[in-house]
Amino acid sequence: MPEKKHIIIIGAGPGGLCAGMLLSCRGFNVTLFDKNSEVGGRNRPIRLGDFVFDTGPTFLLMKHVLDDMFTLCGRRSEDYMDFIRLDPMYRLLFSDRAVNVYSDRKKMRASLEAAFPEDGSAGYDNYLKQEGSRFAKLYPCMTRDFSSLKSFLSLDVLRAAPRLALNHSVFSNLGKYFKEEKMRLVFSFQSKYLGMSPWDCPALFTMLSYLEHEYGIYHVKGGLNKIAAAMAKVITEQGGVIHTDTTVTSLVIENKIVTGVRLEDGRVINADEVVINADFGHAMTHLLKPDELKQYSPEKVQKLDYSCSTFMLYLGLGKQYDLPHHTIAFAEDYHTNVSNIFTNKILSQDFSFYVQNACVTDDTLAPAGKSALYVLVPMPNNDSQLDWQALCVEKREQVLSVLESRLGLTGIRDHIECEKIITPQMWETEENVFKGATFSLSHKFSQLLYWRPHNRFQELEQCYLVGGGTHPGSGLPTIYESAHISAKLICKKHDVGFALASHVYG
Ligand SMILES: Cc1cc2nc3c(=O)[nH]c(=O)nc-3n(C[C@H](O)[C@H](O)[C@H](O)COP(=O)(O)OP(=O)(O)OC[C@H]3O[C@@H](n4cnc5c(N)ncnc54)[C@H](O)[C@@H]3O)c2cc1C
Repeated sequence: MPEKKHIIIIGAGPGGLCAGMLLSCRGFNVTLFDKNSEVGGRNRPIRLGDFVFDTGPTFLLMKHVLDDMFTLCGRRSEDYMDFIRLDPMYRLLFSDRAVNVYSDRKKMRASLEAAFPEDGSAGYDNYLKQEGSRFAKLYPCMTRDFSSLKSFLSLDVLRAAPRLALNHSVFSNLGKYFKEEKMRLVFSFQSKYLGMSPWDCPALFTMLSYLEHEYGIYHVKGGLNKIAAAMAKVITEQGGVIHTDTTVTSLVIENKIVTGVRLEDGRVINADEVVINADFGHAMTHLLKPDELKQYSPEKVQKLDYSCSTFMLYLGLGKQYDLPHHTIAFAEDYHTNVSNIFTNKILSQDFSFYVQNACVTDDTLAPAGKSALYVLVPMPNNDSQLDWQALCVEKREQVLSVLESRLGLTGIRDHIECEKIITPQMWETEENVFKGATFSLSHKFSQLLYWRPHNRFQELEQCYLVGGGTHPGSGLPTIYESAHISAKLICKKHDVGFALASHVYG
């Protein structure tokens, strides 16, 4: 590179940090701005006294994708973090049975046979075989750029097309392997990772449960927020600069070319390229003037389809309960609960929830004998118009009661030493998440691949997107891939070489 090009990245979430790491390694002059006082975005820590919680992500899937990003910077992820593989991966709790889910094949077969004696584990091997071969065909499409029609009409897409099963949802696709509804849910509830219903989520995302079984689930000692901290460390080691507590108020645009950003204090910082990591819907409606875009004008962004939201309760407890690292509890009538979240956009009295009790694996998160409990309840996004200020206290009480009745955490109220709540409204107002849709734009087929906002943003020059709102989508590994794709595009434009990732699929 004849002169060091300046790249500004708006947001130090997983997407921005990963892009910053890849670009600073390749000789770019990288500056990140984040409105928060700590890096990581939805992947940053929450500290309450001596207790530490992850704000959002707690499941690290496809660890090798993260490893690849460090390899691409000439580093080893294990030199920055301690990884712990979980087996059992998690415990599923139905109203009438519990299922421990293992990535170890033998243990998983035994677990299915114990929980579903009528169906047994017969469908499991077929599921692994068929979904493994689908994944091998589809994953190359997740790692390539679709910023132009030409790049979309590729051999990878042609190879993957027969495996898309466009007329099937994840739930109906699983009917090929498992008859019993609850058994299908064991392999389809993962649609919630994308903030979608298994009955609507495209069949191709059956790969989510497949890749848990194939590659396992990891915890990082100190919480998954340590990944964000590690990435920030690599950026600074490579000469990049991260400004926290610095809000970008707008893009600076001349003739559809982004030339820099304007900060809250009025300063304008120029750049050769600007990468947007701020939540897509938020960026389109807050960092641009209403008439600056056509395809993604505020009215059109409003009408796109969005994921669900979450009600979060982080509890610092003065005792430890006998509870696995991850527990997912299904509503008795799961289908109605899911319809209430996604279609009716109303609250359910009978609701599903997820609890992380990471202290059983990691003693750094709470003082000895105490525990840090993370509770996530999927909720409608803010299209619901629910008044969370009014509902918050009641919902907290319901959640605490259900922790007692379904998980046996008796007397939990007496042991709360500190707590924090994030409601769907707070995701929007405090975390800049459009409509409080915590998993970004929905992953329905018409918002995927070429039809998702492009990595090289289609409406403006010198502007790239990374994070859950661009291709390939929400979730840590795919967000890292989005940064990988955008970084490669920037390198190509400036004639900078980019080594291939080490992992090969299929
Ligand atoms: C509750 C929850 C649980 C999740 N669980 C998992 C999980 O287990 N596994 C998994 O793989 N994924 C999970 N996800 C999904 C996803 O991995 C995370 O949401 C991830 O943090 C999204 O990364 P991102 O880079 O797209 O955006 P963000 O993490 O939101 O980062 C965007 C950054 O931009 C900053 N920003 C916004 N506006 C501005 C501005 N104007 N100026 C400066 N900075 C700005 C924000 O402060 C933020 O730091 C979860 C998400 C949530 C919310």
